[in-house]
Amino acid sequence: MSEITEISSINPAFPVSASACIHREVSTLLNQRRQDTEQLLARLLQIPSTSGNERELVMFLAQWAGQNGFEADLFETTESQLQAYPQVKLPHIPLAGRPTLVIKLPGRATGPSLMFNGHSDVIAPGDAKRWTHGPWSGDISDGRIYGRGACDVKGAVASALAAMVAIKRKYPDGLPGDVMVEIVPGEEDCVGLGTLTSHQRGYHPDALIVLEPTEGQPRLASRGGARFSVRVRGKAVHGTVKWLGQDAIIAMRAVLENLEQLEKEFATPNPNALFANYPIMRPITVDRVEAANWQGATCDLATCQGYLELLPADDLADWKKRLQDRLVALHQMGKGAGCKLEIEFSEEYGGHELSAQHPLAQSACNAMVSAGLAAQSVGWSGFNAGCEAALRWSMNRTPTLVWGPGSLAQAHGVDEYVELQSVHETALALALCAIHWTTLPVK
Ligand SMILES: [Zn+2]
Repeated sequence: MSEITEISSINPAFPVSASACIHREVSTLLNQRRQDTEQLLARLLQIPSTSGNERELVMFLAQWAGQNGFEADLFETTESQLQAYPQVKLPHIPLAGRPTLVIKLPGRATGPSLMFNGHSDVIAPGDAKRWTHGPWSGDISDGRIYGRGACDVKGAVASALAAMVAIKRKYPDGLPGDVMVEIVPGEEDCVGLGTLTSHQRGYHPDALIVLEPTEGQPRLASRGGARFSVRVRGKAVHGTVKWLGQDAIIAMRAVLENLEQLEKEFATPNPNALFANYPIMRPITVDRVEAANWQGATCDLATCQGYLELLPADDLADWKKRLQDRLVALHQMGKGAGCKLEIEFSEEYGGHELSAQHPLAQSACNAMVSAGLAAQSVGWSGFNAGCEAALRWSMNRTPTLVWGPGSLAQAHGVDEYVELQSVHETALALALCAIHWTTLPVK
């Protein structure tokens, strides 16, 4: 175990290259299994694990874990077991039939543990006819693999599992600390609830890497946010006497414009350099608008829904109130003011932010440099979305990074794909990071 001593003897506060020898061996082990990794990813993409339908995918992964000699803990958690936590009160698809899986490579209990967190669910593909490569095809073409979830987030799950296999081969007796992958349901319908099931089961890792599409770069922070819904109530009358009614469609048009204006207004203050490179500081995204009545009549009800996405340190309650107050004020001044406006919030999640000086960040930096994926150092930034990071961050202050191949630019779109090269490179970086972190002196 001389190589382990070599790494742990280095001051963890400074980014340094892991032993070239470890890098070479892990890289060789991963290269030998490139095809297996690609086949595994294709198989994951062929299972249509939309939110609420994660079971088949999770059962497949449990079987895969057994075949590859890992410990696998497969469990279901009920709402009543989670009733002490406020998160379970948020609207979500019921948890029954949506198992969580923890795949474990036990360590020797002498080093800190590391958990990778990947969600099993994907969003619905929409009209499959609009896809060039079918959403459940797992097609490979020009170095890309296609399918719903390719970059969000099955590609990253495949990277983490490939890393686990390589680590197991190099360290048959385990690393000093445990390395685990948790596969949680429901990230796409209620962020955090799936990770809560694993937390409740008793998994409290010393560090967490949330698998999300970050273009292969470890990210120090993630956004908080809330889901809102806005309802405007009008009055239906025959269109030819519309002045006697109140048209909710006209009022909703003003609401949509006001939300656009608020997104600009909410760009200040900007206290967080990790998000300074993103053009929109606090995105407000409407993803659903509904308004209809009998034909020929003014509309009496229109609704829209969407997300307000925040910076890690933003106070969620303050920003919800700010959105509400400003939207009401703008509504009262504008077209459609005669319609009644109601705002509600549902899903909500916090952000997280790790210091670049934290040993986990340094382990990641070390891994990137050793893997040849960063010249001298890693340029830190935040993950431009919410994710599962906040749950353990808020409860246990678990040191957390967000990390995975693929880009948010491809997530949730038609012909979603991930570059296979990036899946393989990220596998190497994740493996080296796990080796470095679990070898650090305990806490
Ligand atoms: Zn995701």
